[in-house]
Amino acid sequence: MSVAVIGGGWAGLTAAVELTERGIPVTVFEAAPQWGGRARRCAVRLGATEVDLDNGQHLMLGAYGECLRLISRVHADRPGAGSAPLQSAATASPESPFVRARLHIATPDGVLLQRTRLPGVAGIVGGLLGASTLSLAERWALVRFLGTLRWHGWRGFDGLTVLQLLTRFGQPRQLVRRLWDPLCIAALNTEIAAACAQTFVTVLRDSLGAGGDATDFIAPRSTLGALFPEPAADWLHRRSASLRLRTTVRGLEPVDSQGSAWRLQTGAGAAAPREEFAALVIAIPPPNAARLLGAAAPGVAASLGRFEFDTIATVYLGWREDPGLAPVTMLAEDAGQGHFGQWLFDRGAQDGWHVAAVVVSAQGRRAPIPPAELARQVAAQVAQQLRVPLAAATRVLVEKRATWRCLPDRPRLTPDSCGHEARHLQRLWLAGDHACPDQYPATLESAVRSGVAAARGVAELLAGGG
Ligand SMILES: Cc1cc2nc3c(=O)[nH]c(=O)nc-3n(C[C@H](O)[C@H](O)[C@H](O)COP(=O)(O)OP(=O)(O)OC[C@H]3O[C@@H](n4cnc5c(N)ncnc54)[C@H](O)[C@@H]3O)c2cc1C
Repeated sequence: MSVAVIGGGWAGLTAAVELTERGIPVTVFEAAPQWGGRARRCAVRLGATEVDLDNGQHLMLGAYGECLRLISRVHADRPGAGSAPLQSAATASPESPFVRARLHIATPDGVLLQRTRLPGVAGIVGGLLGASTLSLAERWALVRFLGTLRWHGWRGFDGLTVLQLLTRFGQPRQLVRRLWDPLCIAALNTEIAAACAQTFVTVLRDSLGAGGDATDFIAPRSTLGALFPEPAADWLHRRSASLRLRTTVRGLEPVDSQGSAWRLQTGAGAAAPREEFAALVIAIPPPNAARLLGAAAPGVAASLGRFEFDTIATVYLGWREDPGLAPVTMLAEDAGQGHFGQWLFDRGAQDGWHVAAVVVSAQGRRAPIPPAELARQVAAQVAQQLRVPLAAATRVLVEKRATWRCLPDRPRLTPDSCGHEARHLQRLWLAGDHACPDQYPATLESAVRSGVAAARGVAELLAGGG
């Protein structure tokens, strides 16, 4: 019997790769017609052209160690790919599936944050010398804040919101508005007044607090699909894993009272196919997992049902000529003026267009804006703030349940939560950005870490004769 992985997003595919690597046969079920879940390739219409882009703009950091390891793994032995580990060859190699850039955040008024070549945290502190948009007092407050968090061991902030944390450590109002508020929304997709302080501190520890290349910006060279999900499916296929796209798992039940194997039902009705598996990795978003687990693991299902979600919109802008954008710009958000755009990413030239992606996160804070109106406002904001021509084409993609709200009292789940609920549930493992063993927000890195941990758990269980 093989192990079933339910869900072909970054978490599920990671679990499948890790299990396959250990010689354990896997079957991956994915409801959609493509791999990647919330981080996938997407054809975006700009004018009369379909441009190969993503369902939503994503940014990774150098701190995403497990993501980079898995990406390297599935690319390393692709037919035609070199055998050098891509992680170290990142920027230099044109075959590398991602581009990597030293931390540099431009704003319409100048530089906000950057890293110099100095090693470790010294590079961040050195970069502050050129942070022209921050006053001396603000730069000092920033350094003091990071130093204080380090002194506290980056822990001890459970139950606080980010705003409470920033207030407790005397962060100036302007610094909060210019830096901490947008960084918190970018990292946690949750506004500072509600966001979990401890998770934010953990993200700071592993990025600005670590310094060096942990703060690098990493983006796919072409699309998110080509970065991991598609090569991962290829990698699995070449190792004879069973891959089932367009297959929704609709039910699961233990074959006996000990849960010594699990039966899955795909399709609807009494005649729907049922197959048995030695163990299950359930790598689907919390509401879907809650429905699937309702009868089998009611405690875990109840926790899964408590997650709240927020929206992210990506506004793609297209120009016929290169408007000369910085790779990453933090826009000045001001909802009162209709300036909803927060971050702009230059996606370069494609299919006759020069494309940029503007991210509008934590949209749930305000009444929904019709996509056409959002596109018009964001295009006007970019033209005004960056002094570039108005984009000739726009397209808005909205992900309603982009990420769970990172609140201090959100449910805490780990891959082995089912096994903790009852002994007969030991062959059920959770994966997904909500089941990361570390206290991370909903990110690609959390999804991948959860997949790694779930696969390790399954492997240990099976190796122990369980
Ligand atoms: C617009 C947007 C921007 C983002 N920006 C960033 C960013 O900049 N940086 C970052 O790190 N993260 C970002 N994220 C978050 C990141 O995309 C997610 O954390 C990550 O993709 C979650 O992966 P996952 O595998 O846990 O879940 P998912 O990607 O949701 O995968 C679950 C899969 O399960 C499938 N499925 C569901 N039910 C069933 C079923 N019953 N049977 C079979 N299959 C099923 C779904 O179709 C889906 O493919 C962003 C997300 C969005 C939407």
